[in-house]
Amino acid sequence: MTVAIDETHDPARTSWVASAQGHPDFPIQNLPLGVFSNGNGAPRGGIAIGDFILDLAALARSGLLDGAALQAAEAASGDTLNPLLALGTAPRRALRRSVSALLARDRPHRDAVAPMLHPAHTCALHLPARVGDYTDFYVGIHHATNVGLLFRPDNPLLPNYKHVPIGYHGRASSVRVSGTPVLRPHGQLKAPDAVAPTLAATRRLDYELELGVWIGTGNLPGSAIPIEEAGEYVAGLSLLNDWSARDVQAWEYQPLGPFLAKNFLTTVSPWIVTAEALAPFRIAQPPRPEGDPAPLPYLLDAGDQAQGALAITLEVTISSERMRAEGRAPLRLSRGPASNMYWTIAQMVAHHSVNGCDLNPGDLLGTGTISGPTRDTFGSLLELSRGGVEPVTLPTGETRAFLEDGDLLSMSGRMETEGLVSIGFGPCTGTVEPARKS
Ligand code: MN
Repeated sequence: MTVAIDETHDPARTSWVASAQGHPDFPIQNLPLGVFSNGNGAPRGGIAIGDFILDLAALARSGLLDGAALQAAEAASGDTLNPLLALGTAPRRALRRSVSALLARDRPHRDAVAPMLHPAHTCALHLPARVGDYTDFYVGIHHATNVGLLFRPDNPLLPNYKHVPIGYHGRASSVRVSGTPVLRPHGQLKAPDAVAPTLAATRRLDYELELGVWIGTGNLPGSAIPIEEAGEYVAGLSLLNDWSARDVQAWEYQPLGPFLAKNFLTTVSPWIVTAEALAPFRIAQPPRPEGDPAPLPYLLDAGDQAQGALAITLEVTISSERMRAEGRAPLRLSRGPASNMYWTIAQMVAHHSVNGCDLNPGDLLGTGTISGPTRDTFGSLLELSRGGVEPVTLPTGETRAFLEDGDLLSMSGRMETEGLVSIGFGPCTGTVEPARKS
């Protein structure tokens, strides 16, 4: 996947939007795409810049854009970004270059553009696209190994893992934007020694730290996406939390895989950080350990191996109701690199379509939980607490084997490379609410 580096990535470029300078997530080098609303206005496309959101519907009407950039802004003027995502790479990049120029210091557009900026704290953020299909992969090899050890101590990694990017079809209807409350779900629970299952609220509510991949242009039914072209089909990334009810999962998951343990809610961060913004943060895919099989040719591309991974640092924090009441800072549960993925995003896309399955604009792929090799990099409580037997201690003295009602879980991710301005996703959060009475 080759994406051009251009003037929009220049670390020397600054914006007349003062809060963009040094912003942890949204300096002028990022310009992520989302859907927002404010006041009584309808939801519409926007771009985050510092502490503000640039209204793309207003920009499309302003006369400041032309050509492919105008086409892209018009496609982003409605309540979902699907029409923009469908346009593919070139118009999205043209919009980025135009917006970057309009927001850059020493340009004469400040007076015209400033009225189209809304303070982010006055806006509501919505799901950036209507998700037609959601697929969750399992490419975090340390997670797969850790969980495999808990569920199948003798046989943690099944023999297909290093040949096939494992995935399953998730539920699109329950993909929600960051901040959506996490209602503790009910499900069938059966302890290993119980005679029969019961229906009850889950006692083992967990999170899964993942990246979400937004599909741009789709492929036609019956046509596989060649791996060397996979990058053209990826619009950008968000953070993704695949909330999971581990007790439901343990009872239901065989033989067909996850079902009600995961489809009650999937949370994504609201901004799509585009493939263009991510371009300078591409790094080599870590080499496979000696003795591992080579991927089949349809999953192997020299360019993808050379720059198919990303320099992203992911972090998860927890804050219990009591921690917040006592004014304590959130506790970091994990921090680690997103390069702990056995398969690249291009390999996920190529594999998903190799049988002719059509991906569509706005489809969402989860990477699977991204864990590192050590406990401080584990991407779920299931792993951190070793299946619930070694709870995490909070600053209040409370302990957590799994999530309790009132817990606020927050994920963040930062793209960092020496010599560049780092960018981020913005938060992906959720607070656990008590189960409804059944
Ligand atoms: Mn998952």
